[in-house]
Amino acid sequence: MDALSSFIGLSYIVAASLFIIGLKSMSSPATARRGNLIGAIGMFIAIVVTLLDRQIVSFSWIIIGIIIGSIIGALSARLVKMTAMPEMVGIFNGFGGGASALVAIAEFSRFTSGKAVLPLPMDTAITTIIGVIIGGITFSGSMLAFMKLKGMISGSPITFPLQKVVSALVFLGAVALGVIITGWKPDPLLFYIIVGLSLIYGILFVIPIGGADMPVVISLLNSFSGLAACAAGFVVKNNVLIIAGSLVGSAGLILTQIMCKAMNRSLTNVLFSAFGTGDMAAGSTSTTGDKTVKSVDAEEAAMIMGYAQSVIIVPGYGMAAAQAQHAVRELSELLQSRGVEVKFAIHPVAGRMPGHMNVLLAEANVPYTLLHDMDDINPEFPHTDVALVIGANDVVNPVARHDQGSPIYGMPILDVDKAHHVIIIKRSLNPGFAGIDNELFYDPKTMMYFGSAKDKVQELVAEIKKL
Ligand code: NDP
Repeated sequence: MDALSSFIGLSYIVAASLFIIGLKSMSSPATARRGNLIGAIGMFIAIVVTLLDRQIVSFSWIIIGIIIGSIIGALSARLVKMTAMPEMVGIFNGFGGGASALVAIAEFSRFTSGKAVLPLPMDTAITTIIGVIIGGITFSGSMLAFMKLKGMISGSPITFPLQKVVSALVFLGAVALGVIITGWKPDPLLFYIIVGLSLIYGILFVIPIGGADMPVVISLLNSFSGLAACAAGFVVKNNVLIIAGSLVGSAGLILTQIMCKAMNRSLTNVLFSAFGTGDMAAGSTSTTGDKTVKSVDAEEAAMIMGYAQSVIIVPGYGMAAAQAQHAVRELSELLQSRGVEVKFAIHPVAGRMPGHMNVLLAEANVPYTLLHDMDDINPEFPHTDVALVIGANDVVNPVARHDQGSPIYGMPILDVDKAHHVIIIKRSLNPGFAGIDNELFYDPKTMMYFGSAKDKVQELVAEIKKL
């Protein structure tokens, strides 16, 4: 082994170690920013070393690509709203999958162009086919997920007769052609049919999924994009790409599993049950029957909270939709200045993406020491004066504990109903993502404080200041 290849091998180990340390650091809000930076340094080393390693003929296209990519990346980081993060992740996954598929296509063309049809080396054939199938599925699936979340097409599940059979045939067709190419006939026509079938399968994979389940699917597609990159790493024989791809693949899969667990649903249920239309939160009406709902105005809510000893704030999707996080930070500071103990209770699937609430509250400079995970905060509700629920619904619905017929039965929830008083800010009695009525609204100790989250929190702040 010459000095250059030793240096490259060593640099790849350093880059891979930095990826792992970066990922580990991202598991806590306190170290997440540093983790991001460590991962980025790892990627920088990996890219520079790879450019040294390869016999690059001309750098001009690479430089143009880096400039265009950097501009798009920097603008997206600055301009994309927090609530639009799932679609941004979605489209970036798609690009990752598309890039891996293109690498596989380029390698296949390089091997077969101008040559008589002959069996490809087995390892090249297998990795190329896997790369193009997973990359193609990730590309078209992610683009469709992006369009659903952006509202460019309906967010509702789209189903048709024999859908699962058609999907299975398309996928198996791609795999069967892959076997033919690998074993007998590396025919470019068959290869391009695989590309087409993979793209079609990606669309069939995502269309039956409801818009609001899309974050789970995006996390899964993120995992696919890692696997596609890993396959591309085998295709071009680049160790650091194999490692980075495996890390993304496994991290995406773990995240998918965490989300499914927190929603108490299996992955097959998310993928095949056409649950969640994405329009529910805004559209449905609730049935109140003869149940009584108590409502309060800003003045009453201010009296209860301003004179409380302890308040737990429970943010949910409505806080994100109303962009109320800055007003919420002001409220928490005001209460603390009055000697009230304030904590935030964070449910793992509150909002519409993992870490949604943590990111929004961090953006508003709420100290992360005030943020508490569900398992840590739940024992504290019985000793808390007021639980203030801001735009959360499913994650505080007590039916999850006892109603076996409920779609959210078994989902772990925040035990808000155990606090001495509950104040809920939302615009109506409409259900949340799961589309079910919330029995917490009718609890005698619950007070509904109706309105859009940002306005209502600002009014509350103004009233508390008058106390
Ligand atoms: P929910 O979707 O259950 O409820 C959100 C509530 O916010 C609605 O009932 C709505 O009521 C209210 N709301 C909407 N806009 C506003 C506004 N401007 N001001 C005040 N309130 C508003 O949210 P949760 O966070 O409690 O639960 C998240 C749900 O999403 C769970 O079911 C979870 O499984 C699911 N999910 C989460 C994912 C994640 O990764 N976090 C991924 C996929 C799904 P109203 O219209 O009356 O105002």
